[in-house]
Amino acid sequence: MRIEIITIGDEILIGQTVDTNSAWLGKVLNENGLIVHRITSISDTESEIISTLKDAFNRVDLVIMTGGLGPTKDDITKKVLAAYYEKPLERNKEVLKRIEEFFRSRNRTMLEVNRQQADLPADTLILDNTLGTASGMWFKKDGKECISLPGVPYEMQGLISNQVLPRLKKKQNSVYHKHILTSGLGESFLADILQAWEDDVRSSGLSLAYLPTPGLVKLRISTYNATPELIEQINAYAQLLPALVKENFIGFDVSSLSEAVLNLAKENKVTISFAESCTGGRVSADLVKLPGASEVLKGTIVAYANEIKTSVLKVNKNVLAK
Ligand code: ATP
Ligand code: MG
Repeated sequence: MRIEIITIGDEILIGQTVDTNSAWLGKVLNENGLIVHRITSISDTESEIISTLKDAFNRVDLVIMTGGLGPTKDDITKKVLAAYYEKPLERNKEVLKRIEEFFRSRNRTMLEVNRQQADLPADTLILDNTLGTASGMWFKKDGKECISLPGVPYEMQGLISNQVLPRLKKKQNSVYHKHILTSGLGESFLADILQAWEDDVRSSGLSLAYLPTPGLVKLRISTYNATPELIEQINAYAQLLPALVKENFIGFDVSSLSEAVLNLAKENKVTISFAESCTGGRVSADLVKLPGASEVLKGTIVAYANEIKTSVLKVNKNVLAK
């Protein structure tokens, strides 16, 4: 199923808010076999919302929107969509009860604008938001669907996980990705080494992406039509890489050097301690971010000044001078 994302909010266009909603949605939808084809960010105006929605419906059958569902006057998405779909707003008693409870449990005073959060388009699937007061809405018309969600990231994420994904399960493609992490070779250099291998991968109808970050390049082989044969073929191509990139191969399906180190240490039942200087503890911090780090990391000494290196770590003065 092909999807487009529209994020709404003037704050995105002036750079005050970074559009992390799109990035999160792209990742999670993809992991669930739902393919995003375009992401658009627009201002909070009726004409932008409607023209962008119509434009997207020329290309795809499902649009997911975030933003503009709040109680203030600058939030117009609900009003605009209800008018577009010709669904009058009606006060939803169940949602109102939940919003009242939301305010009561937090000891907060409720205003009329908060009650209006329960005014929702008639005859529309309402997505219950347990983390906030703006409900999600799922409009359907002429085979095209539009899901409107709040802009607040954790509310949007909760609705996607609890309300949207379970309902989209039927429409998903089966995706399979295999990641291979390499280190120490620039992206162009790596591509040069892998030329023949890459031609084979592509001619099998698989896609290949180079994802570089400083010092590392992650390769991703993917299919959006994951038959058992294709999955086997992807794994076979991946197995050829260690021999091709030699000592620059770090691991399969790991996203960082620390993750690869942690896995290796666990497999070999070894523990690690660091003595860090200029890195100020960042090497151990990278490891500690990962689940299971306590099995491996014993401790770290951050010795920045030379006197600490000599007194605590017993580094020879001559070595430091050299
Ligand atoms: P609210 O009830 O809070 O008004 P809303 O649906 O109206 O919810 P917005 O007003 O558009 O949402 O945004 C609320 C908060 O969520 C803001 O702090 C904004 O920065 C953040 N936000 C909105 N859109 C995005 C986005 N695309 N990516 C990341 N954060 C976002
Ligand atoms: Mg708002």
